[in-house]
Amino acid sequence: MELCKLKKDEIKERLPKLVALVANGQYICRKCVRVANDKKLLCKPIELKRIKG
Ligand SMILES: [Zn+2]
Repeated sequence: MELCKLKKDEIKERLPKLVALVANGQYICRKCVRVANDKKLLCKPIELKRIKG
């Protein structure tokens, strides 16, 4: 399951489980700006620590 593919309704239903997937997020999706613990959950992942603001 990729977080990026979730629709609004799916997010609403699964929110309690999704929290566990993002709470320690180390990756961000460059396309969708979603964050996740595991890069497999995102479509264009990059490590947060590699990005400098
Ligand atoms: Zn994405």
